[in-house]
Amino acid sequence: MKANLVLLPGDGIGPEIVAVAVEILSFVAQRGAHQLKMNSQLFGGSAIDAYGDPLPQETLDACLAADAVLLGAVGGPKWDHGGPRPEAGLLGLRKQMQLFANLRPIQPHPDLISASPLRPERLQDVDFVVVRELTGGIYFGKPKGRKQVDGLETAFDTMVYNTAEVERVTRVAFELARTRKGKLTSVDKSNVLESSRLWRETVNRVAQDYQDVILEHLLVDAAAMHLITRPASFDVIVTSNLFGDILTDEASVITGSIGNLPSASIGNEKNALGFPSGLYEPIHGSAPDIAGKGIANPVGTLLSAASLLRFSLGLEKEAQWIEKAVDLTLKAGHRTADIVAEGKFPLTTIQFKEKLQEQLSQLSD
Ligand code: NAD
Repeated sequence: MKANLVLLPGDGIGPEIVAVAVEILSFVAQRGAHQLKMNSQLFGGSAIDAYGDPLPQETLDACLAADAVLLGAVGGPKWDHGGPRPEAGLLGLRKQMQLFANLRPIQPHPDLISASPLRPERLQDVDFVVVRELTGGIYFGKPKGRKQVDGLETAFDTMVYNTAEVERVTRVAFELARTRKGKLTSVDKSNVLESSRLWRETVNRVAQDYQDVILEHLLVDAAAMHLITRPASFDVIVTSNLFGDILTDEASVITGSIGNLPSASIGNEKNALGFPSGLYEPIHGSAPDIAGKGIANPVGTLLSAASLLRFSLGLEKEAQWIEKAVDLTLKAGHRTADIVAEGKFPLTTIQFKEKLQEQLSQLSD
């Protein structure tokens, strides 16, 4: 199989963790006798520095033509003081690639239970996926801006959804629930927000087509609490862009570190191979506090690369190789600094990769 990938290492720890993923992807491609062409493009802050634009046309064209895109992370304090923002590139790319559903699986690794702040009994059987709407809501709504009101500098954003946007992401979530434990939780703020009332009505209408799936509705404030008090009760959660952004960072803590979590963003578009086009990225940011120190946890990026192989290239066996190698590396007790137990010695990013390569090379098919 031949495939074209675009790599967007981005900023901060992005290039450090994408470099690990590239080596591992090259290894599994060679082992599976596939040709993966990987083409790196500037994106985010690094693209602002080079072109004054976080999403240069060349980068966008390459992503639109690729079979899949692997992203590290963007942003950092350097670009926080006026001018174009790296995060605008991310929002633009998701919109241009029409990636309206962001899937974020939350499943604590059994050997990392002690890295979680939750009590071990709360972590029993935790295995859920958050489907976050990705191209609508308050991050994109217009009007958005600033003006003087009654002599005061005033800022405003707009949370806007139409039925088509809610319906398509809801269908992705229902379909996913069907392949799992058959339960969907829709999260909104319908006691206050009109856009949430439309969200809930639309989810209820779509539910008529999925009567085999149990549907519950939660207000976002209650959902934030239940994620901590009863995380094992969730199967699939569907929610808006803003709520999904916040709840998945909260949920990541359940797993011990935000560095562990992958994500896959998909839409209805297919790539040249006939599989869904997608953007795969860890859920964390560019971690400026540890950038350049060589200590970033590459697990979220590696698991994102595994999802890329599975969903956008149809390479299930190769995806499982990476997942198995991550699992065995953690089982063997190897840890980066964010997940290491107190008093234990953490590995650098490169040392962790080397341990993972040992596991990979010992795996049988
Ligand atoms: P962050 O996720 O970058 O970091 C939060 C904390 O988690 C930090 O202490 C960091 O060191 C730690 N962390 C994150 N990833 C880690 C990893 N792989 N290994 C070990 N530790 C890790 O969030 P932040 O500090 O709020 O944001 C930093 C920048 O990233 C900001 O500019 C923000 O806008 C941007 N951001 C980008 C994305 C993205 O590219 N998708 C997502 C979120 C934030």
